[in-house]
Amino acid sequence: MTRMLRGQLSVLAAAPGYLAEHARRPQVSNRFYGAVLQVMWPVRPMLCGVGGRVGVGGRLWAGMGGRVWAAAGDSSLRHSSTTPSTKDDVSGVVDVVVVGGGVIGCSCLYHLTKMGVTNTLLLEAHKLTSGTTWHTAGLFNRLTRTEVAFLLHDRTYQLLMTLKEETGVDPGWRNTGNLFIAWKDDQPEERRADFERFAQLGRVMGVESRMVDVNELKEIHPLLETSHLAAALYTPSGGTMDPSGLCEGLTRAAVRGGARVVEQCPVTAITTQETLLGGRRVTQVHTPRGTVTTNTVINAAGGWGNDISSMVGRQLPLQVFKHGYVVTGKVEGTEHLPVVRDYSASCYYKPQGDSLTVGGFESNPVPIDQLSPDSPFDLYEPNWDVFSGMLNGAMKTLPVMKSAGIKSTVYGPESFTPDHMPIVGEDAEVQGFYYCCGFNSHGMQMAGGCGEQMAHWVVEGRPTLDMFTYDVRRFEPRLVKDREWIRAKSHEGLAKNYSIVFPHDEPLAGRGKRLSPLHQELEAGGCVFQERHGWERPGWFHSQPAPVQSYDWYGAYDTQPASDQRYLHALQADCTFDIPLHQDTLAQECLSCRQRAAIFDLTSFGKFLLTGRDAEAAAAWVFSAPVTDRAPGAIVYTCMLNHRGGVEADLTVSVCEGGEGAACFPPFEGQGYYVITGGATAEYCRAHIVCEARRRGWHIDLTDLTEELAVMSLQGPHSRTILQCLTEHSLADVDFPLSSHKAITVAGHKCRALRLSFVGELGWELHIPRSSALDVYRAIKEAGKNMGLVDAGFRALDSLSCEKGYRHWHADLRPDDTPLEAGLAFTCKLKTNTDFLGRSALEQQQAKGITRRLITLTLQDSLRPLWGHEAIKRDGLTVGFIRRAEHAFTLGKVLAYGYVQQPGDGPITNHFLSTGDWQVEARLKLLSASIHLTHPFDPRNLRQKGIYKDPSYGTATALVHPPAVGAGWVSGKVPDWRPNGPEFGSGRVSALLGLVALSRHKAGLYDLPS
Ligand SMILES: Cc1cc2nc3c(=O)[nH]c(=O)nc-3n(C[C@H](O)[C@H](O)[C@H](O)COP(=O)(O)OP(=O)(O)OC[C@H]3O[C@@H](n4cnc5c(N)ncnc54)[C@H](O)[C@@H]3O)c2cc1C
Repeated sequence: MTRMLRGQLSVLAAAPGYLAEHARRPQVSNRFYGAVLQVMWPVRPMLCGVGGRVGVGGRLWAGMGGRVWAAAGDSSLRHSSTTPSTKDDVSGVVDVVVVGGGVIGCSCLYHLTKMGVTNTLLLEAHKLTSGTTWHTAGLFNRLTRTEVAFLLHDRTYQLLMTLKEETGVDPGWRNTGNLFIAWKDDQPEERRADFERFAQLGRVMGVESRMVDVNELKEIHPLLETSHLAAALYTPSGGTMDPSGLCEGLTRAAVRGGARVVEQCPVTAITTQETLLGGRRVTQVHTPRGTVTTNTVINAAGGWGNDISSMVGRQLPLQVFKHGYVVTGKVEGTEHLPVVRDYSASCYYKPQGDSLTVGGFESNPVPIDQLSPDSPFDLYEPNWDVFSGMLNGAMKTLPVMKSAGIKSTVYGPESFTPDHMPIVGEDAEVQGFYYCCGFNSHGMQMAGGCGEQMAHWVVEGRPTLDMFTYDVRRFEPRLVKDREWIRAKSHEGLAKNYSIVFPHDEPLAGRGKRLSPLHQELEAGGCVFQERHGWERPGWFHSQPAPVQSYDWYGAYDTQPASDQRYLHALQADCTFDIPLHQDTLAQECLSCRQRAAIFDLTSFGKFLLTGRDAEAAAAWVFSAPVTDRAPGAIVYTCMLNHRGGVEADLTVSVCEGGEGAACFPPFEGQGYYVITGGATAEYCRAHIVCEARRRGWHIDLTDLTEELAVMSLQGPHSRTILQCLTEHSLADVDFPLSSHKAITVAGHKCRALRLSFVGELGWELHIPRSSALDVYRAIKEAGKNMGLVDAGFRALDSLSCEKGYRHWHADLRPDDTPLEAGLAFTCKLKTNTDFLGRSALEQQQAKGITRRLITLTLQDSLRPLWGHEAIKRDGLTVGFIRRAEHAFTLGKVLAYGYVQQPGDGPITNHFLSTGDWQVEARLKLLSASIHLTHPFDPRNLRQKGIYKDPSYGTATALVHPPAVGAGWVSGKVPDWRPNGPEFGSGRVSALLGLVALSRHKAGLYDLPS
């Protein structure tokens, strides 16, 4: 981020004259907004059709009358009124009420209609599009960072292509093409790599995009100054749209289908009724024009989203910022040029008639704490401090802009969220209350896809895509009430919108909210923390302390840079798409775990106790594996599925009896289930169980023990010896078998010990009251001192679990993957008579045959890291893409997982998988790969059982190219992680890494820790 700002500031310094001149411009008066409209008018013809006539004065379109749009008998659009009328009563019973007539509400309504839900009502406080939508820049970009985001954009793209034919309304699509550019003084290698990754995903998804050289760049955009540019990417199919046309087309189709759209009808209250487990359900929506009885409300109120949520006592982590663009005077010759996104200057410029619209993502946006409910078509006075950075950047690359001057400004409200992703999905506590807001200035592009997914959510109970990234349940419930956290994180997301998204980067804002009792001890030991779900969890262990620094807003708002930047430096060293600088450190953590022992602080894991009258029924239903017939003491690895058989979570469930009252042994009657989930998915999993119980009328208790218990995981061949020093309970296999748990005393502290492993080693997890955690940790460290015990973090855990072939939810296992496709059929009780959520879908899939399958690949080139979304090719044909990849240090290979599909609709065959020439296309280059039908590491699962005599892990399953076996691990010597072990020569790799670091250091891109 500092990199980005540095780029801007240098530009600013280079063009002080321009800035000074424009800063002196008189403030744009309200009258001037008429001029804004004139500028926009040629490309916004439908705005009038939706909003009515142009008002003169403080508000555009002010004073327009309300209209009720309803399907006429002949299915054509009918306006029942064009003046405000109290006659337009909305009372009645409807299936779904959509609150808000911006692009999102319109898209939700449209897609509900398409799915056959037509007894629907869209209520808009003012006029359609009068919130943020009317003043959008309307850019549409086809390239995204993830395949799900691509599909969400793609639905919008399809609408833009077809809506005119369907409805007669033109959504104003202009196919301008999109150019991404980056500067030479802004991490040129990394920017190029980032663009290549965009392009790679584009290729996987079938969208033409290509890196272009200077000559081609000049052809595509002859007006660009290119001498300072380092990389450019071109997508011919990008373009721009007209928001009002899109909204009118969507609502016209919906109204024809039977939906109702009522303007000038604010929602003033929502009534709910109590349900089980402290939940509520929506029953009524109140407006000045009557009360609507409904059990489903979609909150699509954009920046007003919290006004609507507070009506049901809920809060959203939304922060409204002023966000805008300027419209230049006439710029000769730009009409038919592509939209340019300048990633280094954090701005875009779009042809708009014979002018240009110049906007971007500001580093110092102005926050608004409360939007007025009475501000349709509102705009703010421009803030030249905010605009100046991007304007100067734009002028450097497009010098013709210098003489054009600024004709008008558009500066309006937009809602942002703490992780720069929209908030979508059903509330966890209020049944029938859905969100679709917080679009971080991407709402136009995402409207089609998010509206469609919302319709699936409402009609079928779940979306069809993996929407976890967007799901309201991804947030920790307490944090969504923390205004300081929301503002800081939303600021960071906005300001970093055009920054490179590095795989191992971490946010700097909103840190330190949830700490393990080991936090300070680990921090002193050099722990570099990662942030997940508000937790500080260990990422990896540095040679020196690198405490998380206070948030300095990246210098915005005149904030002084944080005085201690050791954390930032530690992060920046790994901000690369090549081999991270800390690869050696990770190798040591991983190989120590495989060879000796490592301790992981897993306190951030979600911990829940499921008990109560209907706990057994609930456990039988929500867990795919047989759990309820297991005796207390058993641990079961299971999935939780949705009705399509997709995996909503994978987790472990320990069957237990009531205890004597300590935090890890709570008292309860009957059988209970101790559920351990991933840290980032804790609320998602909790909500899944509770909502299912509510739906089925079950009385359960789901006690959240996450904050009360710390978790340490001791793993590796020496784990038993170390732990045995501290407990009188026998840890021998016969007394403490794999997949069992027990109450034991460790170093004088009672805890629940679970014999299981997330890394494929002999090991135990200790679940301990927070107050005991530090003592136990120190005792373990002391006991392991002479046995090579090391601290290890989640980056090592990710690598080790990947090497072992364990799934990682939301990466290689998602709600749109079934256990059968993911090789997890063993977690499903399909051979029993017990019904469970998702069972019938799995049975159908089994009967039809599985058409896609998760595969494991290793690369021939071990120095070529993969980061996801690379194409998987078989005999030259793309058959899937990489979901997750890691360097597997013991195998000495890059290991990757992805789902592949056989061409045609038939089931995927073993022949297809075990033959052919497999390759991975990464950053547009083809790499040779080997496919493995079983995990290449420890395929017989011997190590978890404590059997360390069989070195066959590296040879059992390679089908095409056997992977090299890492040397030395049996002998007691920590092997070199590098390809072919020590023969490759550690000096060469270190030298290589050192060179990379040095060259960046020289380039002044970041300071290395001394
Ligand atoms: C300057 C700027 C440029 C942008 N450029 C782009 C771009 O190029 N591409 C892109 O994809 N996105 C862009 N965006 C973002 C995009 O415009 C927004 O994300 C999108 O318009 C949000 O739509 P929405 O429906 O969520 O919210 P809104 O359009 O704000 O709609 C919410 C509606 O809810 C109504 N409402 C509020 N309270 C009530 C109530 N009590 N009862 C009934 N109705 C109520 C409001 O009146 C409003 O009409 C830009 C945004 C800005 C500000």
